[in-house]
Amino acid sequence: AYAKKRGIDFADLTDEMLQQANRQKEMQHNFSSALRNGEFVSFYQPKVDTETGRIVGAEALVRWIRDGVVIQPDQFIPALEKAGMTEQLDLFILEEACKNLRKWISNGNEDMVMSVNFSRRDLEDPQLSEKIIHIIEKYHLNRKNILVEMTETTSEQEKNLMMRFMDTMSEHDIMTSIDDFGTGYSSLSALRDYTVNEIKIDKSFISHDELQDKDRAIIGSIIKMAELLHVDVITEGVENMEQVQFLQDLGCTKVQGYLYGKPLPPEQLEGMLDRQAAGMIHS
Ligand code: C2E
Ligand code: MG
Ligand code: MG
Ligand code: MG
Repeated sequence: AYAKKRGIDFADLTDEMLQQANRQKEMQHNFSSALRNGEFVSFYQPKVDTETGRIVGAEALVRWIRDGVVIQPDQFIPALEKAGMTEQLDLFILEEACKNLRKWISNGNEDMVMSVNFSRRDLEDPQLSEKIIHIIEKYHLNRKNILVEMTETTSEQEKNLMMRFMDTMSEHDIMTSIDDFGTGYSSLSALRDYTVNEIKIDKSFISHDELQDKDRAIIGSIIKMAELLHVDVITEGVENMEQVQFLQDLGCTKVQGYLYGKPLPPEQLEGMLDRQAAGMIHS
């Protein structure tokens, strides 16, 4: 029975792999027209200061709306990365984010910091920095209002590209963040080698059922190290008050997570910002 079961599992797996390969091809094929047809949209997740409860920024996260169904990035970003097609999408999301930020700043949220994700594959384009700068300038944004997020690199070649990219961003006052910090091969050397303004502690560090001494030691050390290096810290994936308390005790008060808000369509985040501003007036 065991062998039979294994056989069935294996057959299912192969089938699934084939299907996935086909899906990938189809997606790559459809990507350009989807972009033209406006099927890609940007959602925004609030970044919150847990001490004040205020929204201090947002992260732009792409969604693919296809036949009315919302497709999450994990379902198409990997395929686009393999095909080297993320740059166009990332620049599009940056532009959408800049458009919205322009409006929100005009509505009185001057200190709002907008994070935008860029794939490491995008570094293969030597013009990437220029393209980013061009878009930010087009919307007359203060460059301090934009934070470029990128995950840690794995190869030496990519690392050199990323170092140069981070340096150029810094020269132009555009802030950078290392996303999913702590999950890469070389988080410590990343902190040493890259000119970054922020690290974003990966949600896996706080997602255990019970946070233990080990977690406290690791996250606490990351926060202390970042402090000594004058690098900002934000933690993602915060879903309950226990985690908020745990992070506050260790000195991290900037968070993102479902507890404070899921990624939302721009109108909805704008509503949250408006309510926040109204609260200030009444209090
Ligand atoms: P990321 O940049 O690390 O984004 C954080 C992910 O965690 C988001 O998933 C967000 O919805 C999710 N998240 C936020 N709070 C919580 C929480 O409290 N609990 C849990 N379980 N999850 C939470 P999302 O939007 O599905 O994005 C997944 C990944 O796709 C992103 O990870 C990023 O690597 C990539 N991605 C998203 N948008 C873009 C984009 O415009 N360009 C590129 N290149 N990659 C993108
Ligand atoms: Mg991110
Ligand atoms: Mg992340
Ligand atoms: Mg991620």
